[in-house]
Amino acid sequence: MNFDLSPDQIALQERVRTFAQAEIAPRAEELDRNAEFPVDLYQKLGELGVMSIPFPEEYGGMGLGVFEAVLAIEEVARADQSLAVAAMVSMATGLTVARFGTDEQKRTWLPDIVSGKKICSIAGTEPDAGSDTAGFKTRATDLGNGLWSLSGEKAFITNPGTDISSFAIILAVSSPRDAQDKKFTLFLVPHGTSGYTQGEKYRKMGWRSNDTRPLYLDDCQLPESAIVGKVNGGRWVLHKGYQAARLFLSACSLGLAQASLDHAIAYAKERQAFGGSLGRLQLIQEMIAKMALKVDSARLVTYRAAWGVDAGKDDLMALSMAKLHATETGSEVANMAIQVHGGWGYMDDCPPSRYLRDNRICTIGDGSSQIQALLIARECGLDVTFR
Ligand SMILES: Cc1cc2nc3c(=O)[nH]c(=O)nc-3n(C[C@H](O)[C@H](O)[C@H](O)COP(=O)(O)OP(=O)(O)OC[C@H]3O[C@@H](n4cnc5c(N)ncnc54)[C@H](O)[C@@H]3O)c2cc1C
Repeated sequence: MNFDLSPDQIALQERVRTFAQAEIAPRAEELDRNAEFPVDLYQKLGELGVMSIPFPEEYGGMGLGVFEAVLAIEEVARADQSLAVAAMVSMATGLTVARFGTDEQKRTWLPDIVSGKKICSIAGTEPDAGSDTAGFKTRATDLGNGLWSLSGEKAFITNPGTDISSFAIILAVSSPRDAQDKKFTLFLVPHGTSGYTQGEKYRKMGWRSNDTRPLYLDDCQLPESAIVGKVNGGRWVLHKGYQAARLFLSACSLGLAQASLDHAIAYAKERQAFGGSLGRLQLIQEMIAKMALKVDSARLVTYRAAWGVDAGKDDLMALSMAKLHATETGSEVANMAIQVHGGWGYMDDCPPSRYLRDNRICTIGDGSSQIQALLIARECGLDVTFR
């Protein structure tokens, strides 16, 4: 077993870290305050090659693994989790197309996603159902002659309403209304398609600089060539797509946890209390030590899960452990960093307070902590039922 990164991985990590600390971190607070999606920064990230890392070279990708993508996402999230999430959702969506899409879909849609010129979305959640996918109601009707019609509503979708939004892949029920077992099909819906509209941006607790909206489908007609994967095979494809998103979200929380630790250490050294630095007080030292331990263990489970994906292992336990542990760690460590900062930590312009707001959704989205715990329990051999 070797825990060292290769020289190429270290070089990639340092390149993204240098860019993220110089260009993204100084703007993160202002982006959060103004709730604006920074197209310029996103496209610069694209020019740096961040979004291209795990894609095949024929679509402009670097042909590297999910592991290298995790290294890069961690560094972007260390500077601004909100921007890292926009990038990782587009990458996870693009990977779903790369893995299950048709040659035409890949040729048409991937190059701009891979280069970061454009951004895309993956839409499962609905107003009345999130974890319980069987509750989704958006309907796909086969009109015959190779034409389908989508009608329904999606909720909380990331990236669909920016100036560079390109397409969304949307899950819809494709089995007959009276079928016992609901079947789903996934459709690639280009921005601007008639019958597909995006609602107003939500006002959110965190992730304010990325774009989250409801989507509306009103007899949105699409050719058969818009189907990603097979008719009635959509839930499985989406599930696979969400696996990458879960891993990337773990990396987002990991980067944010590292940033929280960085800020706490710096403040503990600089702040004076009781005749010396805060950092010489043993209870503060214990807090810093626990934060460092939590960050390190989150990194270990996240890297192991990413390595497993690249090694072709179908290790659901490792993926769920990474998602559960890294995202919970993000919130715990951000909260501890606020404690180290005292009253200043509660102020809006103190980074750890933003970190806590940003990370709050990470234990809910892409399979909540409760859902991950159930999946782990099932892998442990317990009889887990969702209904
Ligand atoms: C900012 C933001 C961005 C998002 N981006 C996207 C996106 O791009 N695409 C997308 O498809 N979705 C997106 N989502 C939706 C997100 O994935 C869902 O919110 C999440 O899956 C939870 O679904 P829900 O909100 O319907 O909660 P519910 O499923 O209604 O869950 C409510 C609570 O019950 C718990 N719970 C549910 N089932 C069980 C169970 N069996 N046992 C125990 N506890 C349970 C959950 O853990 C949760 O705490 C986003 C959400 C937000 C807020």
